[in-house]
Amino acid sequence: EVPVICIDGPTASGKGTLTVEVARRLGYHYLDSGTLYRVTGLAMRRAGLDAEPAHEARIADLARALPLVFNEGKVLLAGEDVSEDLRTEAAGMDASRVSALPAVRAALLALQRSFRRLPGLVADGRDMGTVIFPDAGLKVYLTASAAHRAERRYKQLISKGISTTIDSLRADLEARDLRDSSRSVAPLKPAPDARLLDNSHQTIEQSVVQVLAWWQE
Ligand code: C5P
Repeated sequence: EVPVICIDGPTASGKGTLTVEVARRLGYHYLDSGTLYRVTGLAMRRAGLDAEPAHEARIADLARALPLVFNEGKVLLAGEDVSEDLRTEAAGMDASRVSALPAVRAALLALQRSFRRLPGLVADGRDMGTVIFPDAGLKVYLTASAAHRAERRYKQLISKGISTTIDSLRADLEARDLRDSSRSVAPLKPAPDARLLDNSHQTIEQSVVQVLAWWQE
């Protein structure tokens, strides 16, 4: 049985950073499942489709056959580096829309499970512990207040030279959380056996140490 640690939680809670660091320290693989929904959203746009039920089957077909390669931290879609396009707020919003379509979630299931390889996996997402890896050895549900999350995202974007405001980011992330937690399939919520970790007042290092301590229990 290949060990898995799941790190789920809302937008901009710091899951990505925590997941990468825990995986690095354990020498495990890592899965950023949000990227798969972001790429699907991008593929949808490029095909001239919208995240509506009438296009659901066609978007699911795109998701099932994504010409996707992860290479040295870059995401290649049909050979083109789309890493930058995927990080925008618009891409996050499109990802949230396509991810509410049940056929799209089903289409990405096998791909996500294929990341479970020795020596182990740390998986970041919304439903890693509830749907994709229900038998995971450790499930963490990571949260932080909306104010803290908006501020972190703000600093990230400003440092990349992207101009924005804290208020608009907070409105975006609250809209995304609302859609993610109210959809009918795999809504964002902690698995019953998840450990809750609120990192509002923690450094990344403190969160990493906490997760590793739980893993070693
Ligand atoms: O984590 P990230 O912001 O990249 O995810 C983008 C969107 O993809 C989320 O808002 C969510 O709607 C969707 N998602 C999901 N299930 C996952 C990961 C992401 O529904 N496991």
